[in-house]
Order: sequence, then C-alpha cells, then structure tokens
Amino acid sequence: MLNDIQEVLYDENQIQQKVSELGETISREFEGRNPLVICVLKGAFIFMADLVKKITIPLEIDFMAVSSYGQSTKTSGVVKIIKDLDVPVQGRDIIIVEDIIDSGLTLSYLIDVLERRNAKSVTLVTLFDKPTGRKVELEADHKGFILPDAFVVGYGLDYAEKYRNLPLIGILKPEVYEK
Ligand code: 5GP
Ligand code: MG
Ligand code: MG
Repeated sequence: MLNDIQEVLYDENQIQQKVSELGETISREFEGRNPLVICVLKGAFIFMADLVKKITIPLEIDFMAVSSYGQSTKTSGVVKIIKDLDVPVQGRDIIIVEDIIDSGLTLSYLIDVLERRNAKSVTLVTLFDKPTGRKVELEADHKGFILPDAFVVGYGLDYAEKYRNLPLIGILKPEVYEK
C-alpha cells in the first residue's frame, strides 16, 4: 500500500497533533452549546472519530453521505445525498466535519441544505484544504493543513475505496490511477 505513495505530506503524529489543537479550539468555541457534529461520509470517518475524542464538551453526532466524485479523481460538480441525517437540525448549532475541501462544491451544497432546514448556526471544520481547487467561494471556519493541488489519500481518504486505512496523508503516484 505504501508503495503506491509518492510523497508523505503529514505523518500520523503530525496529524494527531493538529487534530488535538482543533479539538481544543472547538471545545472553547462551543462551551455550553451542545452542538450536533455531522460527519461527512465516508472520507471524514477517521477524522471525526479522532476529533470528537479531543472535544471536551457535551455534543451529539450524526452522519451524512454525499457523493460528487464517483470513481474518478476529479469532481463532477454533481452532489447527491446518499444518506441523510437521522435527526432534525432546526435550531441546532451544527459542526460539519469534512476530510478535505477542493472545489468546495460538496460543502457549499451541504451548507445550503442545512441552512434551508433552519440550523441555528453552521460551522465548517476540515482537516485538509486545497484552496487552489475552488470553483465556488468557500472558506472553512477551522482547517488543519493546507495542501497543494494534488490527489491525496490516507487518513480516511480513498482512491477507488482503497488507502483509507493509511494513518498518514500522502500523494498517490499518478501511475496508480492512470493505469
Ligand atoms: P469538493 O467538492 O470540495 O471538490 O470535494 C469533495 C470531496 O471530494 C471531498 O470531501 C473528498 O471526499 C473528495 N476529495 C477532494 N480532493 C480529494 C483528494 O485529493 N483525495 C481524495 N481521496 N479525495 C478528495
Ligand atoms: Mg469528504
Ligand atoms: Mg472518495
């Protein structure tokens, strides 16, 4: 699996350190508010699990699955809700936990949906950000690492459903997906 990685961008320790910092920031910001923390499946599942352990205030969690990429490494611009939330968001403070923001299409769609359902507030947390890939204006409230415009895998992020279990984030060798 590691043979397919061209370059490791951040290793397990660097990621855990950053996740701890984000957890502390969110704990302070949401003190006394009982937020609903939404994991955007599947990519954010590892970040979500690690992050909520570093948040020290009461919260609730839910999951949502959306798709925009299919099997490809480029966005199609089409966002589809595959699995919706189990609980209503009306009047709730929402924290969206995302793995990576590239074009911003997925998240701007999701934020729109939650605002139309009358969430009280929507806060966006992403572990990775590729700002040069934006097709719509979108800025996360809290972000971990800024990445170059390359296709990355690991720490929950896949290529064709593989590599999610790598504990690090790295650039996939182009020959892997050009095959
Ligand atoms: P966006 O809508 O911002 O273009 O990105 C939508 C989703 O595509 C992200 O949440 C993530 O799941 C996936 N994605 C974007 N960039 C990458 C990348 O470099 N690697 C992987 N594995 N997934 C990505
Ligand atoms: Mg995602
Ligand atoms: Mg994917």
